[in-house]
Amino acid sequence: MNTLYLKSFIRCKRKAWLDYKGNKSYEVWSPHKAIDKINQYQIFSELCNGDIYTGLKACKNGYQGVIGLKIKGKFFQNIKAEIHPQLLVKTKGISKWGQYKYLPVVYKLGHKTTKEHLFDLAFSSILLETFQESKIDKGLVISSFGNKVNVEEIDLNKKLRKKVLNVFLSLNESLEGLIPDITQDRKKCTICSWQNFCDKEAKENGYLTDIDGIGSKTASLLKTNGISNTQILASYSEKNLGEKLSIFNDQKYLKASKFIKQAQAYISGEPYFISNKHDNYEFFKKTVSGFYIFDIESNPDDKHDFLYGFLKINNLFSKKEDLIYEPILNLKNNQEESYQQIIKMLFSNEKWPVLHYGETEKIAIIHIAKNLNFSFEEIELLKSRFIDLHILIRKSWILPIKNYGLKTVSNWLGFEWEQKNVSGSKALYWWIQYQITENEVFLKKIIKYNKDDCLATLHIVKCLIRNQLKKN
Ligand code: SF4
Repeated sequence: MNTLYLKSFIRCKRKAWLDYKGNKSYEVWSPHKAIDKINQYQIFSELCNGDIYTGLKACKNGYQGVIGLKIKGKFFQNIKAEIHPQLLVKTKGISKWGQYKYLPVVYKLGHKTTKEHLFDLAFSSILLETFQESKIDKGLVISSFGNKVNVEEIDLNKKLRKKVLNVFLSLNESLEGLIPDITQDRKKCTICSWQNFCDKEAKENGYLTDIDGIGSKTASLLKTNGISNTQILASYSEKNLGEKLSIFNDQKYLKASKFIKQAQAYISGEPYFISNKHDNYEFFKKTVSGFYIFDIESNPDDKHDFLYGFLKINNLFSKKEDLIYEPILNLKNNQEESYQQIIKMLFSNEKWPVLHYGETEKIAIIHIAKNLNFSFEEIELLKSRFIDLHILIRKSWILPIKNYGLKTVSNWLGFEWEQKNVSGSKALYWWIQYQITENEVFLKKIIKYNKDDCLATLHIVKCLIRNQLKKN
């Protein structure tokens, strides 16, 4: 039993079980974990002014920060346990090593201190106390915002220790039992290394949360009404279902119709065409004399867009080799220059619409225009050129897929990324690597990935215009 299982368990019982007993060949490498580790190391190093070393020797020598330590011990009821404190930081006190002791520290991404942070600290402190022969009454949660290190002190009181003990006992019991069910809150799955494994099982068992728009609350509402899987949902009448969905007020019949059609499409593998209201002809007319496709790579935690990618399409029927792709890099010290480049690009064809997938790109351009002191009218004009394909596709089609992200939609339409197993998180991971090593290889990978995102968007545009969203 160790800290890692405990943290997984707090997130999802099944994840802890899979980490402990699952077949590792089904696990997929997660860039989130790697990004977390890099961020963690940088901020810990800053906190300890670089006086940070690895292992037991570092404790004996009294270094300010200690990482990479594994401490084994016995927990409640003699259950064997192991802690992997993210960081131990030296403080005043007396321990078996001398006139100092260590406190456990965890890294926090984002603003919220969660149970995961609190339990990690409490669990670590219990074993660390015995190990260093010194009492611990607080732990630290470290985060970084706007290049400033924030330190939050956590009181490791009796109540918290009791709670962690209870969680520890349930974890122990769970690991000895059968594999727990897939979590109801499937949002958690998006950054989980077991996602593919669980997705497969969810689809085979007709999990309601596989249906776009159905979260844990709606799923349990459906279940209490006897609709326990996607098959039953797909065969329901829209009127009957609408009556059971009164929580959606006057949207209830609309929601019922969407859920049922989405379930039918998901099971049959066939897309469902909603309407021609958002006339493809209009869309075609807007794009016929050229358009841009625009896609951003960003670091959301740092609120930094590091790459702006533009694909210029003079003609929808241009060959792939005739398309011009222009990446604009946004290093923190050349921000002004990259903003100017973007505006120059957008106004070199000022009538062209800008097609993008999701809201991020439009928000980023408005931000840039404001930064460059554009007038209200100029910003409005610029805004009117943006066409969000994500919205367009959702209004026109119900597709047999789990979500309507760019990757899922374009993959389903037969588009293939040149680099395998890529994602926005992987691009961010490469960006962090590039910043550390300045190795151009990482930059090339990011640019290739962004270009493919633009080409994937173009692929969707073509399918929309042909009005043929069929699997190729
Ligand atoms: S993919 Fe989801 S259900 Fe499966 S282990 Fe991860 S978080 Fe839990």
